[in-house]
Amino acid sequence: MINDTIAAISTPPGWGGIGIVRISGKDAFSVIERVFKPVKPYNLEDIKTQTVKYGHIVDTNNNETIDEVLVSYFKEPHTYTRENIVEINCHGGALIVKRILELVVFSGARIAEPGEFTKRAFLNGRIDLSQAEAVIDIINSKTNAARKTSLNQLEGRLSQKIKKIRNVFVESIADIEAAIDYPEYDIEEVSRNKLLERMKLSLENVDKLVKTFFEGKIIREGIDIAIIGKPNVGKSSLLNALTQKEKAIITEVPGTTRDIIEEYIEIGGVAVRILDTAGLRETKDIVERIGIDRTKSAIEKADLILLVLDGSEPINSNDLKIFEIVKDKKVILLINKSDLEIKLNINEINQDFIQKRIIEVSAKEELGLDKIEETIKDMFLRKEFEIDNQLIITNLRHKQVIKEVKKEIEEIIDSINGDTPIDIISVSIVEAADKLGEITGETVGEDVLHTIFSKFCIGK
Ligand code: GDP
Repeated sequence: MINDTIAAISTPPGWGGIGIVRISGKDAFSVIERVFKPVKPYNLEDIKTQTVKYGHIVDTNNNETIDEVLVSYFKEPHTYTRENIVEINCHGGALIVKRILELVVFSGARIAEPGEFTKRAFLNGRIDLSQAEAVIDIINSKTNAARKTSLNQLEGRLSQKIKKIRNVFVESIADIEAAIDYPEYDIEEVSRNKLLERMKLSLENVDKLVKTFFEGKIIREGIDIAIIGKPNVGKSSLLNALTQKEKAIITEVPGTTRDIIEEYIEIGGVAVRILDTAGLRETKDIVERIGIDRTKSAIEKADLILLVLDGSEPINSNDLKIFEIVKDKKVILLINKSDLEIKLNINEINQDFIQKRIIEVSAKEELGLDKIEETIKDMFLRKEFEIDNQLIITNLRHKQVIKEVKKEIEEIIDSINGDTPIDIISVSIVEAADKLGEITGETVGEDVLHTIFSKFCIGK
């Protein structure tokens, strides 16, 4: 049971039209009573949940009126934290809000840690851990796609899938225990077969999850790359070399007149979508005709441009035109065909580009690909791309857990097929169930909780 009452400023720091101080805990109502003088007095016992009262915040030490406010009351258990909650809507000057918080703390509340309201919602069983993580992700999401994914998670879709898999483990453990407790019924063999079936089914379900993680969330939040350059510099060869080296995933995007094939690759652990710059794979004359518009929109959309030059030729006016088009974008300059004699004079490259990253590569000999990987990974880690890192981190925590569970199930299947005694197998199943519980928070350690909630902003 949580005994203390917490308070925080829930609106962003600085000046605004209104400011909100939020209080949560069993003493929330008595705390507000000490500082709030309603215009129409009332009894706390009579107050209904979700009511708003008008009045003033008064410092009772010297009877000074601090601000004119609206106070909202939310009665447990149907609140964000499942505790009594009070929200004070005051004028949004930073000093006023701070002063009110001080008074509230003086009257018996404690300053909340970042994310503590949401942590209480989790500890009091209103949401599970993956839903709490979704709350941070929604607050931090910068794109609509990211917000939508997080919203799904908040609604518990991931948790439902996890719970279903976990239930199978729990049932299996119960069966094994029955077999151990009543050996005279000789149910050992039956349960071994049944167990094998169940574990195989779980493996399938876990596999599906692993796949959706990669194809769904990370990908939608990965970076978009466009490979640009005049004809014949080696763009398609480079794409081929990259997709062969890396794990490529092709997904079809239906609903267009001609299904677009999108290709995703993981470069240095970063999910990358190669934008279709029209004609990477098409014949050259088609490129001339339809390529331009699509290439332009790809350039606009791209988080990063791989600008390919042919190192075996001097720079010409076409290259210079392309420099002009991409000059405001993040660019890695690739000097291709480095296996041939280099005739490109680097000094002819626009000064702006000399500042950018330049890598010599050979698509043909697969030279320099590692350098590309390292550079992208480095840019990603330095947060040079405006994407939702938070979502990826949350997602990575889940993905890691799922992968470990998968490995564990595979081992369990091996032990069932071998002659490992069933009570020992049972221990492994318990471990796998505990592991899965880390996603929903049923079995998670205090350290993981701390890391997750400390990423919240104060007041949420
Ligand atoms: P794109 O028009 O930019 O897509 O260029 P392609 O990938 O079709 O390559 C054009 C030509 O350059 C082809 O004949 C390739 O074999 C050749 N090529 C591409 N990369 C290299 C490379 O690194 N070294 C050499 N020697 N030839 C290359």
